[in-house]
Amino acid sequence: MKSALFNRQPDDKPFLISGPCSAETEAQVLDTCQRLAATGKVQALRAGIWKPRTKPGMFEGVGTKGLPWLKRASELTGLPTAVEVATAKHVEDCLAFGIDILWVGARTTGNPFSVQEIATALRGVEIPVLVKNPIHPELELWIGVVERLQKAGVKQVGLIHRGFSSYGNTDFRNAPMWHLPIEMKRRLPELPLLSDPSHICGRRDTLAAVAQQALNLDFDGLMIESHQDPDAAWSDAKQQITPEALHDLIHALVWRH
Ligand code: PEP
Ligand code: MN
Repeated sequence: MKSALFNRQPDDKPFLISGPCSAETEAQVLDTCQRLAATGKVQALRAGIWKPRTKPGMFEGVGTKGLPWLKRASELTGLPTAVEVATAKHVEDCLAFGIDILWVGARTTGNPFSVQEIATALRGVEIPVLVKNPIHPELELWIGVVERLQKAGVKQVGLIHRGFSSYGNTDFRNAPMWHLPIEMKRRLPELPLLSDPSHICGRRDTLAAVAQQALNLDFDGLMIESHQDPDAAWSDAKQQITPEALHDLIHALVWRH
């Protein structure tokens, strides 16, 4: 059965986007992406090129030089690529290097100035854009990004639920607060809704349960981080899994069709 992100048919499989949290080296991107393609489970490849880090001194992404690596991964696998954008320059660079899908990260969704800059850079451009929920549980801000993009003429807009930040100890890196994406589905039923168990869990051992919960709630797909050598990852090492582990995780999910 085919799987598409937009114009979904009732029997479409969940749409799976996977790839490393960050592009680190060309070899790491190509090895991870080719192994992901070999699982037969992945419909699009992801990698962070510019990373929004909490504090200075952390790895902030390889920048524009990583985009040709993703392009090459796409040529080798036949899969489309997805990259996070936070500025107009990011958008221009992604378009110049033939990236197929853009996404707005959780920190950017909470910043209307940046969102407007992205939306304006996308005027007249046909490319799907996925919008992660803001870090804090504020649905109107999430919906506002959809509206800014649509007003700029972006026709294919989707949603990614990546959980919500809360202070103090919790079982999750970002609490899923499932009622919030469910409310988004009610408010914007025509938009595809994906879940990102990686950033919800922040750890490997609970990814499968969160992915299953998303499918039980009729989400349209998943974004899950995968790395050739997860423990050695330059960002989000604890939550990444190998492409082979991703295969097994997806294979074990129960899906209504
Ligand atoms: C990411 O996808 O690697 C990322 C930075 O996610 P988020 O914006 O959800 O924190
Ligand atoms: Mn990450």
